[in-house]
Amino acid sequence: ACAISPKAIVSDACASYSTLERLNRNVKPALDELTQTTDFFSHYRVNLFHKKCPFWNDENGMCGNIACAVETLDNEEDIPPVWRAKELGKLEGPRAQHPGKAVQKQEPVRPLKGKLGEGVGESCVVEYDDECDDRDYCVPEDESATSKGDYVSLLRNPERFTGYAGDGAKQVWDAVYRENCFQRSSFPHYAALGKDTSARGPAAMDFKAVLDAAGRQHVLEQTREHNPLTPFVANTGLEAEDECLEKRVFYRVMSGMHASISTHLCWDFLNQTTGQWQPNLACYKARLHQFPDRISNLYFNYALLSRAIAKLGPYLTAEQGYTFCTGEPAQDAETREKVLAVTTKAASVPQIFDESLMFKNGEGPSLKEDFRNRFRNVSRLMDCVGCDKCRLWGKLQTAGYGTALKVLFEFDNNDHPQVPVLKRTELVALFNTYARLSSSMSAIQKFRGMVEAEDNKG
Ligand code: FAD
Repeated sequence: ACAISPKAIVSDACASYSTLERLNRNVKPALDELTQTTDFFSHYRVNLFHKKCPFWNDENGMCGNIACAVETLDNEEDIPPVWRAKELGKLEGPRAQHPGKAVQKQEPVRPLKGKLGEGVGESCVVEYDDECDDRDYCVPEDESATSKGDYVSLLRNPERFTGYAGDGAKQVWDAVYRENCFQRSSFPHYAALGKDTSARGPAAMDFKAVLDAAGRQHVLEQTREHNPLTPFVANTGLEAEDECLEKRVFYRVMSGMHASISTHLCWDFLNQTTGQWQPNLACYKARLHQFPDRISNLYFNYALLSRAIAKLGPYLTAEQGYTFCTGEPAQDAETREKVLAVTTKAASVPQIFDESLMFKNGEGPSLKEDFRNRFRNVSRLMDCVGCDKCRLWGKLQTAGYGTALKVLFEFDNNDHPQVPVLKRTELVALFNTYARLSSSMSAIQKFRGMVEAEDNKG
C-alpha cells in the first residue's frame, strides 16, 4: 500500500520514511563495502578541468578567487591557510589520466599500470570509450583523449564541507531551478497541509542556443510562462490531474540531490575554531530541518535509486556476461559479489517506486525528450561549479541520477528487454550516488535525534 508512486509525497502518513529507513539499514553496509573496498567503484573517471562553463563566464565563480573565498567565510584571513575554502575544495591524491583511444587499442587490459599508485588494480578502473546514444541522460564527452578526464579516488576526496558558497554557488543552484527547471508555484493546498511548499509548477519552455568559448552550440532552456498546477491531494499521493507529473519528478530529483549535498556538508563540517570535522546541528536545522519538503525529496530519490538498482541487478550477473574487471577473474568475481549483495538487498522490498506511471498519458511521451534534455543541461551546469571537489561530486551525482533514469525509463519492461549498454562511468556514478543518499539518510536520522535531545533538554 505504501509503494511510492512518482505522484506520492514521501510522508510519515504512508509509513514511507520508515520503510525506506528499514531498507537503508539493510542495504547500507553492503553499499559501503562496495563503494569503499573495490577499485572499480572507488575511482571515477571525470573531466573536471578541460571543460568550460557553457552558460556564463565563470572566471569569477572560482573558489581560488579571493572574492569567492572572502564571501564564503566570515574572516578568511583569520583562518589557518589549510582550512580556507580554496584548500578545502582542492582534489587530493593521485590522478591518473584516461588512456587515449590509441593506447586502448594497443593494450586493452592494463593501460594505466603504475599510474594510480600501488595496490590499485588498474584493469578495474579502465573503461572504453563508447559514445552516448540518444537514450542517454549524460552529455557526450569530446573526442580528444585529453578531454576524457582523469581517474580520481572518491575515497581520498569525500563529499563534505568545502566553504564553496556565495554568488558562484548561488548562480549554479539558481540555474538548476530557474533556467532548467520549472517556475515556483504558490501551491495553496500544499501550504495548507504543511507539505511541499517549495514545489514548483510547470512552465512552457523556450529553447535558446548559446555558444560556448569553443564555439560549440548548447541548447539552453528557459522558462516562459507560468502555468499553475492542479494541486496534489497530499496524503493519498493522488493528483487531481497528472499532466505535470514528469515535470514535478524532475524538480524533486534536483531538490533531493541538493538536500543530500547540504546534508553531507552539514554532517562533515569543519569547525574553524577547533579545526575538527564534526556534525553541525545549526547547519542542519537551517538548511533541512525547517524544510520537510527537501527531506521528502531526498527520500524520494532514495526510493527512485533503490528501484533502479533493483531493476538493474539481474543484468549484472555473470550469466548475463557483465564483466567488471577485465582480465582479473578473481577481482571481477569479488566485485560482482559485492554488487549483487547491494542489488539483491535493494530488491528485497516490494517495488518501491512505480516508474511505469511516467511518460504515459497526455503529454507524457513527448515530455520524455524534454526531460532528457533538461537533465543534460543540468549535467552541463556542473561545469560551472567553481570548486573542484564540489564539481566532482556534482558531476558524479548528476551522472548517477541520469543512469538511474536511463535504467528506469529506457530498459523495456517486457520479456525481451532491450538493454542499453551501461558504461563503467555510469555504473560507478549510479552506485556512488546511491551510497550518498544512503549516508544522507543515516545522517538525517542522527541529526533528528540530536534535535530531539536538544528539545528534551529545553
Ligand atoms: P544553497 O544551498 O546555495 O541554496 C540556494 C537556495 O536554493 C536556497 O536559498 C534555497 O532557496 C534553495 N534551496 C536550498 N536547498 C534546497 C533544496 N534541497 N531544494 C530546493 N531548494 C533548495 N558546498 C560544500 O561545502 N561542499 C560540497 O561538496 C558542495 N557541493 C556543491 C555542489 C554543487 C553542484 C553546488 C552548486 C554547490 C555545492 N556546494 C558545496 C555549495 C553548497 O551547495 C551551497 O551552495 C553553499 O553552502 C551555500 O549555501 P546557502 O545556504 O547559501 O544555500
